[in-house]
This record gives sequence, C-alpha cells and structure tokens, in this order.
Amino acid sequence: MATINDHYLKLKAGYLFPEIARRVSAFAAEHPDAPIIRLGIGDVTEPLPQACRSAMIRAVEDMGDRAHFKGYGPEQGYDWLRGAIATHDFQSRGCPIEASEIFISDGSKCDTGNLLDIFGNHNVIAVTDPVYPVYVDTNVMAGHTGEANEKGEYGGLVYLPITAENQFTAQIPSQKVDLIYLCFPNNPTGATATKAHLTAWVDYAKANGSIIFFDAAYEAFITDPSVPHSIYQIEGARDCAIEFRSFSKNAGFTGTRCAFTVVPKTLTAKAADGSDVELWKLWNRRQSTKFNGVSYIVQRGAEAVYSPEGQAQTKALVDFYMENAKIIREQLAAAGIQVYGGTNAPYVWVKTPNNLSSWDFFDKLLNVCNVVGTPGSGFGAAGEGYFRISAFNSRENVNEAMRRITESFKV
Ligand SMILES: *Cc1c(COP(=O)(O)O)cnc(C)c1O
Repeated sequence: MATINDHYLKLKAGYLFPEIARRVSAFAAEHPDAPIIRLGIGDVTEPLPQACRSAMIRAVEDMGDRAHFKGYGPEQGYDWLRGAIATHDFQSRGCPIEASEIFISDGSKCDTGNLLDIFGNHNVIAVTDPVYPVYVDTNVMAGHTGEANEKGEYGGLVYLPITAENQFTAQIPSQKVDLIYLCFPNNPTGATATKAHLTAWVDYAKANGSIIFFDAAYEAFITDPSVPHSIYQIEGARDCAIEFRSFSKNAGFTGTRCAFTVVPKTLTAKAADGSDVELWKLWNRRQSTKFNGVSYIVQRGAEAVYSPEGQAQTKALVDFYMENAKIIREQLAAAGIQVYGGTNAPYVWVKTPNNLSSWDFFDKLLNVCNVVGTPGSGFGAAGEGYFRISAFNSRENVNEAMRRITESFKV
C-alpha cells in the first residue's frame, strides 16, 4: 500500500491567502459594484523592461538557427550570466564572490526550499516571526518540525519575534541554532538590517558553526547607502552564509522565472562522522541531479538586466514602486496611522489603529474603503496587530486607495 509523507498533514499553510480570497469574494458577492483595490499581493504589476524583452527575442531567434541552437545548458547556469552577476552584484560591492559560486535557478522560492535537501534532519532552525511562510512550510514538509499550535507556531522551530520594539530586527538568540533564515530588506515588514546587525549574526554563526540563509530578494529596493545589499559585505560571511537573489522583483520576472543562489566554496557543515564537508559540492551535485537549468532564452533576458539599458530600466521600475511606497507611507501617516518600512522595500508595515486585530483591520478596510491588504498575523503570531500594504500596483490604484483610506480614517 502506498503511503504519503505525513509531514504534509501538519501544514497550516494555504490558510492566509485562501482566507483573504474567501472574505473578498464574500464581500464582492454582497456588493457586486464595489470597486475593490488589491494592495495585498506580493507580485509585480509593471511590464518587463525593454532590454530584457529584446534579449529574449534575440535568444528565441538563436534557437531557430542551427548554428546558435542550444540544447541542455549547464545545470548551474551559463558562464556569461554567472560572470555578469559576480561582477555587478558582488565584486563591484567588494564582495569576494566568484562566478562559479553562483547557481542560476528558476526562483528563490524553490531554492530556499530545495536547499534543505543537502542539510541534515536534526538541525535547530530559527526563523523570524513574522516570516515569509515558505521558510517554515518547507521545513514542515521535510519533517523538521512538530505539530502547529493554535497560533500556527510549529514545535521544534525557534521563533525570533520582530516588532516595532526591536526595530523589526531579531535579537541574536542566547541558545544555539544551526540554521537561521534572514530576509533583508524584509518581507513582510519592509525593515532593513544595519551592517552592525548583520555583523552580529555573522559573528554568532561563526562562533556556533551555524549557517545563515540570507534572502536578498528585495536588495534592489535599498535606497539608504549605509544599508548592506549582500551578506558578503560582512567580513567572514563567506564562511557561514548562503545568499538568495531573484530577478522577480527588480526586473519583473515573477512570471518569467530566474533567480540565483550563492554558495561560497569556503562554506562547510559537519558530516555524521564529524568531518567538514563543502556545501558547494553537495549543492552542485543536487542541482546536477534534480535540475536541468533555466531556459537559455530566460537566462539571456536576465543577462540583459546588467546591460546599461537594463540597469536604467530596472532602476526606473524600482523607482516607480518606491514612489508608490512613499505615497502609501505619507498618506497613511497623514491619516494618523503608524507606518514602518516602505523606504528600502516595496512593503509598508502598518500598526493597526485603535489596537484592532490584524483581521478586524482587514475587514474594516475591505468594508469601508474596499481596499484589500494582508493581515500581519498571517505571517506569524508576532505579526498580530500589524498589516502589510504592498506598493506593487499602478499609480492610479495606489492614489485611489489612499484617497479612500485618508477620507475614512482622518481624525
Ligand atoms: C518574492 C520573493 C522571493 C522571490 O521568489 P521567486 O521564486 O524568485 O519569484 C524570495 N523571497 C521573498 C521573501 C520574496 O518575497
């Protein structure tokens, strides 16, 4: 008799966004003419940069020409893309990362989950609370947790609360943890980490033999020049950190799919016999076996991000969303609502007014303003009393949503 991976039955996931969808469709059914604006989605809205489209069109033509046709590519990605990334994203910032340490993939979501393949089953795992749900759910699926309690917290995970009281940066744990997930600029809070905060994490990881999983999907949204873009800007991070990057948010590739993971060759973890094993070798083996690379066409599109036109066009995209974020911040603040984030990330993290719960504020915003956001409690217990508003939308929708909110909340 076939059996299943029972760990899947522990998953509470699929609760947040389906519940949002359920409440929105119930409201829409009762109020069919309500002009609902969705500021809850973590997906981009603006079209692909011209430089990327042109490069992909040329690549399609290559595929139609016997002399330039490409079959299977290297599982790790083409050297020209890995080289462009190493030069532009790392070496230009003084990070000693080589092209061979960059693994091209079809997404950071998959990479953060797949990476667990090469780690043992008895690591102590720390996540922030609130958190990007993928980090938690993939560990549940891999059998690294116990059951969830009524707040949605899984047994066996170490939750590090991030709230206004600690500027949304977790306190370095007093206990030993083996794997730590950090996301900066942060989804959902929009917070960033200072160099000093990241240095404290790197020092902790080196002292405890831990590995940091550093998700920098929103790196391009950093506007403050003092904020590090990469964990490798911190001395010693090559010995304790893996970094995830994606073209999804900076270049609008959420539907095109291209990302990469950096695994330094100096990074090791322990085998059962106590010996040190290079994680680069394991990840290379894993990708060579279970992955056949990102399409040539898409990799050419990603390479174009690093051309002068691509750099200008992606900067314009990011600037557009960040102007939305600025409008959201300013308008909500004018309505007397406490806001965080939104200056180095496309998310504004709102303290719900009058101590409303996250879901009560959700209902109020939907009913009174016909605006949809994301309840903070859906990202973790410590997100209760907060609310995420996304800057990924048209200017028209952002302006209209803010007009409605300021009108109904103004004191
Ligand atoms: C959007 C996002 C990503 C990118 O995921 P892709 O699979 O590359 O599209 C990664 N991490 C976080 C926290 C995100 O919000």
